[in-house]
Amino acid sequence: MSSAPSAAIKIGSVVVLGAGSAGLMAALTLKRRLPHLAVQVVRSSEIGVIGVGEGTTAVFPRHFFEYLKLKPQSFYAEADPTWKLGIRFLWGPRPHFFYTFAFEFEKRQPELTRNNGFYYTDEFPWLGPASAHMAQARAFPRRPGGLPQFHNNHAFHIENRKLVAWLERQCTEAGVRITEATVRPERGPDGIAALIAESGERFTADLYVDASGFRSELLGRALEVPFLSYQDTLFCDRAVIGGWDRTTEPILPYTIAETMDAGWAWQIEHEHFINRGYVYSSAFLSDDDARAELLRKNPCIPADRTRVVGFRAGRYQKLWSGNVVAIGNAAGFVEPLEATALQVICVETSSLADSLADSLCEPTPTLIELYNRYNTAAWDDIRDFLAVHYRFNTRLDTPFWRAARNDVAMHAAAEVVEFYRQNGPSVVAGPALIHPSNSFGMDGYLAMLIGQNVPHAKPWNAPESERNFWNQRCRKLAADAQQGMTVSEALKALRSPNLKWA
Ligand SMILES: Cc1cc2nc3c(=O)[nH]c(=O)nc-3n(C[C@H](O)[C@H](O)[C@H](O)COP(=O)(O)OP(=O)(O)OC[C@H]3O[C@@H](n4cnc5c(N)ncnc54)[C@H](O)[C@@H]3O)c2cc1C
Repeated sequence: MSSAPSAAIKIGSVVVLGAGSAGLMAALTLKRRLPHLAVQVVRSSEIGVIGVGEGTTAVFPRHFFEYLKLKPQSFYAEADPTWKLGIRFLWGPRPHFFYTFAFEFEKRQPELTRNNGFYYTDEFPWLGPASAHMAQARAFPRRPGGLPQFHNNHAFHIENRKLVAWLERQCTEAGVRITEATVRPERGPDGIAALIAESGERFTADLYVDASGFRSELLGRALEVPFLSYQDTLFCDRAVIGGWDRTTEPILPYTIAETMDAGWAWQIEHEHFINRGYVYSSAFLSDDDARAELLRKNPCIPADRTRVVGFRAGRYQKLWSGNVVAIGNAAGFVEPLEATALQVICVETSSLADSLADSLCEPTPTLIELYNRYNTAAWDDIRDFLAVHYRFNTRLDTPFWRAARNDVAMHAAAEVVEFYRQNGPSVVAGPALIHPSNSFGMDGYLAMLIGQNVPHAKPWNAPESERNFWNQRCRKLAADAQQGMTVSEALKALRSPNLKWA
């Protein structure tokens, strides 16, 4: 059982160490949800922020615009996002497949006997409006009057420095104090007693949020909470990042995840810049060879605009220990194959704010224990889901991919895969197999298993009448999507004075 901050302490003040996305999202979430809290951020420009993390999931807009009730207008005006409907995987034996946030595989059509996943074909690799829009490179349906029909199954692509700048402004407006200082922790009976700046200034609070990135200054280094590696599942530990200024390329409404020799590469679509990053395993490829492969496959990237970032996949055993709660990279890390880091920060910060609100800022041992259980499970869920991406990708026959197919540890994903192997894309057991808090759900697993054409024991030829209905439906979805708005058109409409925000 976790130890609570001493029972007599009611949390009235919080110091957040770090002003990357995690620190600023934590400070903003706490201050918006609990305005009476004194929230201060301490950050070091000397150390800086990691400066990556540019794709989100649909949890991100819901966190800011529904949970925190921020107005999207300032986000659009200042952070310059584009929309992401999902991921187009260049992965496995099919030419490509789509992963959306719209749970299209598990949906059912009243006219058909089984859920959508059973009807998937190479001819129509879309199952609903979201994937049909992706296939047509359209972002949103077009409303009469030429405005986009927004919905909340979308995510964003955002440049990290613009996101951080927007978050900083939101924090300041909400009343968060941001102070520049490089600090070291001083230990105390509850965990941390103070953060001490080089000038000797002391920062003290009832609760410390460790958002110091990979340094994990408070949870990892000072409190020495053990780190649990995910290395048996996730072999990659480095990324080489580059990109180029957009010229005539259309802005795609999705991230691309492309299989590479010793890992995979993302393509993230900003309005004026295309960002590429090759995530690879240093056990299989040197930095120079990774850079060479990225540049060879993306000749538009200027060689002097690449940089390498190292990381380790895993999480700390506990995320809340004594008077320290770690958020973001200070708590754990998995590679951005499903772009989940900002999502995890949303979940961690909202569950922390809710925990404080519900306990009247006097968190009990049971609450802290459940916070830890819930948030560590969220990290493990991502690892397990990514295992399926590695174990079944047959696209390349390289030493890295042979090792991934043979050796990747599946953990809890093994049971889901076994169910699929025996039963095909059935969703009847989904809720029993996958906890409702798992953000990917059975639908996410089906997208990856069907997308990678993983064999199962129940191949099914739908009756001709059902097949005809399905094909007609797919053609109509494609035709409707073709009438939709591209990202460029939707951006233009967004900036039009005719747009009425709800
Ligand atoms: C290659 C790569 C690609 C990624 N892509 C994605 C993606 O597509 N989508 C996604 O959601 N996430 C992605 N991420 C993850 C994402 O970048 C991070 O999770 C996110 O930016 C949060 O970072 P952070 O705030 O935890 O850490 P950082 O940005 O590293 O911030 C740490 C902060 O702590 C401060 N600090 C540290 N030590 C001290 C000290 N002693 N004194 C004072 N201040 C201190 C620093 O100054 C800084 O302000 C990616 C990560 C990597 C490595």
